[in-house]
Amino acid sequence: MVITVTNFPSMSFILSKHVLLFWILSLLSSRLWAAMEFQVSQQLLDHHPVVLNGTWLFHWNALLPPDSVADPAIQWQTVTVPGIWNDVVSDKDPMNHGVATYATQLNFEGALTEPVVVRLIRISEAFHFYLVSEDGQNIIDLFEGGEVSADPRHNVIAPDYLSFALPPVQGRYWLVLQVSKFNFYKGGLRTAVTIDLRQRYNRNRILVVLLHGIAIGALLYMALNHLQIYLNRRQNTSSLLIAVACLFVAFRCFVGFGYLEQMFPWVRNAIAIWRFRLELTTIAIPASIWLHFYLYLFRQVYPQRLLRYSWMGSIVLTLSIFLTPADWLAYLILPAEEVWLVLNMLVILYVLVRATTQRLTGARLSLAIFFLLVVGAVNDLLLSLAPGYGFYVMEYILLVYAVLLFLLVHSQLLARQFANSVSNEIRLLDDNRKLVRQREQAELAAIIDHLTGVLNRKGLEQRLERAWNRCIDDHEVISVLLIDADHFKKLNDQYGHLIGDQALMHLAKVISMTKLRIHDFIGRWGGEEFMVVVPGADIHIAAGIAETIRASIEHSEFGESDLDIRLTVSIGVAGTRPGMHKTSLKQLIQLADEALYAAKSGGRNRVEAYLPTTTEPPLESFEQSS
Ligand code: GH3
Ligand code: MG
Ligand code: MG
Repeated sequence: MVITVTNFPSMSFILSKHVLLFWILSLLSSRLWAAMEFQVSQQLLDHHPVVLNGTWLFHWNALLPPDSVADPAIQWQTVTVPGIWNDVVSDKDPMNHGVATYATQLNFEGALTEPVVVRLIRISEAFHFYLVSEDGQNIIDLFEGGEVSADPRHNVIAPDYLSFALPPVQGRYWLVLQVSKFNFYKGGLRTAVTIDLRQRYNRNRILVVLLHGIAIGALLYMALNHLQIYLNRRQNTSSLLIAVACLFVAFRCFVGFGYLEQMFPWVRNAIAIWRFRLELTTIAIPASIWLHFYLYLFRQVYPQRLLRYSWMGSIVLTLSIFLTPADWLAYLILPAEEVWLVLNMLVILYVLVRATTQRLTGARLSLAIFFLLVVGAVNDLLLSLAPGYGFYVMEYILLVYAVLLFLLVHSQLLARQFANSVSNEIRLLDDNRKLVRQREQAELAAIIDHLTGVLNRKGLEQRLERAWNRCIDDHEVISVLLIDADHFKKLNDQYGHLIGDQALMHLAKVISMTKLRIHDFIGRWGGEEFMVVVPGADIHIAAGIAETIRASIEHSEFGESDLDIRLTVSIGVAGTRPGMHKTSLKQLIQLADEALYAAKSGGRNRVEAYLPTTTEPPLESFEQSS
């Protein structure tokens, strides 16, 4: 008996209007709208695709010839399409490997004026479609996906997401389908078979490929960006995590849509099995990656021990994916992964709820995106679990974009964190630089005479010692000039201490401005005494410099014009070759002091120079130049 029903409106038609309604109805459709004959007409197709969901004829364990549909001797079972034959076939083999023949009746009312295609997502594994006239006389070979064979060695898996042309016929025809499956657990016609106008199908396909392309492009771009951030800043492991997650999702987009088999059709079985393994890996590893994400975002409320277990589990799962025989993958590993994913999601939910209740930054946004991801994932699960729940690949696109949004938002949250940590770091560096500068200033202040701005006694001694040691190392000579203001006490008494101070500043300025060489330096030795150190200068050169200083001071203008103050200095010079002459630094200064004393007693405003090797009278006397 043949029940005829008007076709259930197409999925895409509903999807375009009411997504929720579509979900519910399409779930119910395979149960309620049983049909053994499907109406196909241009008028129907103009409105929506014809979905061949319903009850089909089924014959287990034989690839029946297409014209068997006209043979009354053949016994058929019925089966709900889409569905997996494991539900109806009771075999000793739990994998239900084998072959089967399906058939359903199509009623082409009137001529089809536009090209029409049959499209399908997935039939496990190889299949062959025929169109057979009611009496079995006219057999049209429609399409073979993979290679159907009762011999497991010759069964070749068909790629996913296929379409093929339906010739323009009229009247009642049988659609006969031979299926063979020897690799994976789930067998038979597991997703909807749909008849659609070629033009509309192509339009949809272009949209899907475009959406996929955009998603894959965006994911690769994000992966590259984050990889670059990570390479520039190794401590930023969250960037590496995002990069890896993006690559995984991009890869899953690529393999999940069957591009891989379509690109390499010549080794379909091996490719299909490896594709499946890789696809399973892209669930096992990201399960932990998702969980890991939240460590960076909400460390305060994160159960870090669980993360370790999560990674251990993911690694064990990944290893088992590659060690398990192909036909056990969907039977064992896939359910294990689904459980694993749910467990990880529960931990994430726990973290997010805690983060939200503690009002951590970004927690609410993260929770919202997480729910979107759950909706996408559930939707994807339904696609593989609930037969009939399938419109082309829109579910898949939904998940891809949910994941993309998830990654975008979370990389944004992490980027904000990253920016905060960088600006904190910059502030710290700034503070540090300020401290260093302050310390340098303090150190400098400690060795500068605040009245005259030249080195103070401490600074002078430090530099003198360094210069002395360097001269020892370089076998160089060194000379010192001790400069003492003449009759300074008198000046203080006469004009007051303030003028005295100004006179000291003036003396320091004039001495500093005298043409000193690059390594020479000046300091205040104490009171109204200054010292000039001239490394590399022997006593003759030093005495020359001293004479220049003396003369410059004598001829310099000091004080306001109404006060005619003439400043003069007496200078004692001593020079030596440290290391060679057995003079110590102390002795050298002592010697300069003696020379100074000699200059004072010699009448002031003059230079005296002593050599250390001699205790005899001064080597040279420089008379007052005036
Ligand atoms: P002589 O030619 O023998 O060196 O005579 P003098 O008066 O310069 O020598 P003396 O050592 O007797 O006096 C030094 C004076 O220098 C004493 C002190 O008042 C003055 N003096 C030392 N330090 C300062 C200072 O920082 N400011 C002022 N205004 N005077 C100072
Ligand atoms: Mg003095
Ligand atoms: Mg003096």
